[in-house]
Amino acid sequence: MTIGTWYYPKNWPRSEWEEDIESIADAGFEHVRMGVFYWSSVEPRRGEFDVEWLATALDIFESYDIDVVLGTPTGAPPKWLVDEHPDILQEDPDGTVREWGSRRHYCFNSPTYRDETERIVQRVTERFADHPAVIGWQLDNEFGCHDTTRCYCDDCAGAFREWLTRRYGDIESLNDAWGTDFWSQRHDSFAEVDPPGPTPTRHHPSRLLDFYRFSSDSVVDYARLQADIVRDVDSEWTVLTNFMGDFSDLDPYALGDLLDLVTWNSYPTLYAQRTADDLERGSGETLRTGDPAQIALNHDLYRNVLDQPFWIMEQQSGDTVAFPFSPEPADGMMRLWAHHAHAHGADNVNFFRWRRCREGQEQYWGGLRRHDGSPDRGFREADQAADELADLNDLPTPSAEVALLHDYDNCWAIEAYPHTDEFDYWEHLRTYYRALRRRGVQVDIVPPESDLDEYAAVVAPTLYVLSRDLADHLTAYAEAGGELLVTIRSGVADTANQWYDALFPGPLSEAVGAEVGQHESLPPVLETSVTYRDETYDYRTWGEWLLPDGAAVVGEHASGPATGEPAITYNEFGSGGVTYVGVWPEDELANAVVDDTLDRAGVETTAALPRRVHVTERDGYTWVTNFRSTPLSVDAPEDAEWIHGGSTVDAHDLAVVRADRRDLRVDLDR
Ligand code: ZN
Repeated sequence: MTIGTWYYPKNWPRSEWEEDIESIADAGFEHVRMGVFYWSSVEPRRGEFDVEWLATALDIFESYDIDVVLGTPTGAPPKWLVDEHPDILQEDPDGTVREWGSRRHYCFNSPTYRDETERIVQRVTERFADHPAVIGWQLDNEFGCHDTTRCYCDDCAGAFREWLTRRYGDIESLNDAWGTDFWSQRHDSFAEVDPPGPTPTRHHPSRLLDFYRFSSDSVVDYARLQADIVRDVDSEWTVLTNFMGDFSDLDPYALGDLLDLVTWNSYPTLYAQRTADDLERGSGETLRTGDPAQIALNHDLYRNVLDQPFWIMEQQSGDTVAFPFSPEPADGMMRLWAHHAHAHGADNVNFFRWRRCREGQEQYWGGLRRHDGSPDRGFREADQAADELADLNDLPTPSAEVALLHDYDNCWAIEAYPHTDEFDYWEHLRTYYRALRRRGVQVDIVPPESDLDEYAAVVAPTLYVLSRDLADHLTAYAEAGGELLVTIRSGVADTANQWYDALFPGPLSEAVGAEVGQHESLPPVLETSVTYRDETYDYRTWGEWLLPDGAAVVGEHASGPATGEPAITYNEFGSGGVTYVGVWPEDELANAVVDDTLDRAGVETTAALPRRVHVTERDGYTWVTNFRSTPLSVDAPEDAEWIHGGSTVDAHDLAVVRADRRDLRVDLDR
């Protein structure tokens, strides 16, 4: 495991580069990512190139034995290019042009921009083909950030029509698949189908789902241009890009096919403000630590894109730019985040960034060093993490007993038709993820079509769009002895996002042994409770009244007009079993249902962990990571070897112990 950082020499006088780079090396950092949005600095005018400053910086990094990942500069086309070709700019749904002056203003489907991309990527990659410091290339930066996956310009309209033509062949097939007799939406030709612009009320959900798919595919097509050039220039280079946390618009599984290495950017306190760990909102603790379930879920997702160790390309190193506030992280968090990432399969954590910058839109964004070059709060912690993790190198990819299914079609279908704004696909998924982590269960987050045989249990939240083939795949998993947990809003629609002609969960009904008779979305002001195995629990946001057909009723509604109606069922099916949870459970109910699923699946777990405490195992090493502001006590077997820390884990601290995580007992320290 290595630690690295991001350094952009052009932000600093040439006279300071060597001192900065020497400090990076002194800290024990082995990797740096450099560049990203530098097009106007290497080609200030068309055809006039100046890349020697980059070469100088690379030479200094080489002299300190630091490996460099360079970014391609395409994330911010320069002013002269935009002036020459304003058609490369993106457009909002209402036709407003996304102007030059920030970043990510180019359209993925612009033929002009694709040509310009090939030209500049070829130029910079060829220049550094033999440079020993360069180990790989990051394609662009944060594809789709700032809602830029989806563009509504004329080039995109044309490309969308071609995409639909390839998918449906003829327009009547599209009309049939979408169901366009509703509200007079029949199309007479593909030429009539536009990107979804502003309308008086909601768009057709099938049109939206296909536009979202097309938009994600457009990014993948564009990225392929760059990946091919990098590989052609030097086949030894690692091709990678950096994804974002809880990011819905781009399907990383599709883009992952182009990559040698998956990386993502982790800003825990930024996400804590918008991923509702509702119960913590009163104390605000996660605002200084991040929500470990949010961070870990993304680790487990991106690790599984290529089923191999991943990198954190940007790890928060202090405060950030406000979203909408930016409290300083608690003491210890930079070290804790690095260890936590490593436990989940990260092989390198790059802190963003080395120095807080004096200029531009990210002036306030923190770094390991202050803008005068002196160490900032996070530096000592990152330095310590680099020392501690240096000995834990080349560990294999962590293994998991349980799969949590995640799928971008479902993400997009829910976005197209959330029913209520409070129905958040990621947050619903996280309810179950948190319940699994509470028992120290290792989780692979994988798409539903994955091979599931190796998993003792599969948790499948909201499989809204579910083909019959996928339903058969999941049915076969349960029939062969797997424990399958299916939840609300599953088996609703076919792949064109038209409802099945059967009650939900449609093609999964036989395996579930029940159907959905009623459904409702519910504001917090309404009472929402159910009984489950004779205990009463709360739920939130969504409830279904079930019609059992073979399954046993194990939970009933206990509030409102649903009182007494079945809410949760269990169906012994083949050699396995299928649980159906017809509500969005609050944590206590999710814990109870998940615990029962794990018991039946024979998954060995830890004793229940305190909230926001994770235990995570990689190759026989177990990390106890404490995101709480109070200490923990850890009981370990006598022969356990403590690598870092010991039986008391302080607030925002950690321990690494060579022991099976299931043999540990972690309690709040009293
Ligand atoms: Zn466009």
